[in-house]
Amino acid sequence: MDHPLWASCEFDEDTITDRLRLIELDREGMEACGQILHDHIIVPNLDAIVDRFYTYLLRIDDFNRLVGGASGAARLRDSQEKYLLGLGIDFQKREYFEERLRIGSVHHRIGVPQSFYQCTFQGLQSLLIEYIPDSIRNDGPAFAEILRFILRITALDMSLAVESYYSNRESDLTKSLESERDETVRLRELAITDWLTNLRNHSYSKRCLGAALELARTEQSALCVVMADLDHFKEINDAHGHLVGDEVLQIAAGRMLSGARADDEICRYGGEEFLFILHNTNITEGEEVAERVRTHINSDAVNSRDTKLQVTISLGVAQARDGDTVDTLIERADQALYSAKRAGRDCVRREG
Ligand code: GH3
Ligand code: MG
Ligand code: MG
Repeated sequence: MDHPLWASCEFDEDTITDRLRLIELDREGMEACGQILHDHIIVPNLDAIVDRFYTYLLRIDDFNRLVGGASGAARLRDSQEKYLLGLGIDFQKREYFEERLRIGSVHHRIGVPQSFYQCTFQGLQSLLIEYIPDSIRNDGPAFAEILRFILRITALDMSLAVESYYSNRESDLTKSLESERDETVRLRELAITDWLTNLRNHSYSKRCLGAALELARTEQSALCVVMADLDHFKEINDAHGHLVGDEVLQIAAGRMLSGARADDEICRYGGEEFLFILHNTNITEGEEVAERVRTHINSDAVNSRDTKLQVTISLGVAQARDGDTVDTLIERADQALYSAKRAGRDCVRREG
């Protein structure tokens, strides 16, 4: 299940105590004030307070637009009543804090600007003060006490709403950054992937080989490349059409991957040519990899669109030497590949 957004503002016992102390709601008598607010101000005047609060809000164009006029505002009445009936009751409980955060989060989600939410809160404060009954109003200390409480409890609610807005915005921002990052990764992947076979593409193979040569030089390790080319591929296209040819390329690419080792890089170099970059591999090991790929390709007939085809591949292997560049190393692997073709195809030849 999704974690509610407002739950990202964590409140435990200590942070609740700190917040209450900061707002001076930790003073003696505050809980009793909550009950007085509920019993003597809110309950007897609930309808009037909600009516007048909405009358005040509906005079503000932005609010009107946001809720869709008086009929929209009427739908919000229930939650406003519920909110008022809970105001100041059990305010030191975690559930109170969480409910306030949830309300802030809902306002953010429906598009109420934070400044609007904050500024209009004074409308509610004024109404609560106005509905203090004469019995309290005429008792100086009790009046001062309930006034202080109203200001403090509404300040608590406001501080929680601000927090909720903040964490919602932060979470929106994180989400958009994450999706941007995913998109960047997707585009980067697309730029180095061959559309047909899903192998790495030509430009990647050149860059990857350049980096592999550098690394092999620095680490004094062996590095091999294999240039591979499907045999008589033109005949497959001519006899069965390009679509069959495409599918054969895809199946052959899959067989190359399964014949090679996990760290070997297999790239589609051009039409039906493939370049393998074999890290930490000497020429004998390189020949073994090439041989395994060759037998993976020719072991079973390829099934494509009701056609069974025997596909073979020729491969040439070369090992990097001091002073090699990407081009000189590929050139030697190419020469070896031509030797394999000349030797009758469906075989592996090493350079030299
Ligand atoms: P060899 O054994 O000497 O390599 O013979 P070959 O027929 O494989 O070589 P050739 O260079 O004469 O022909 C390669 C063919 O590969 C020609 C080209 O149309 C085909 N080809 C290249 N890319 C693709 C592709 O993406 N899809 C399909 N279907 N065919 C392709
Ligand atoms: Mg070919
Ligand atoms: Mg070719």
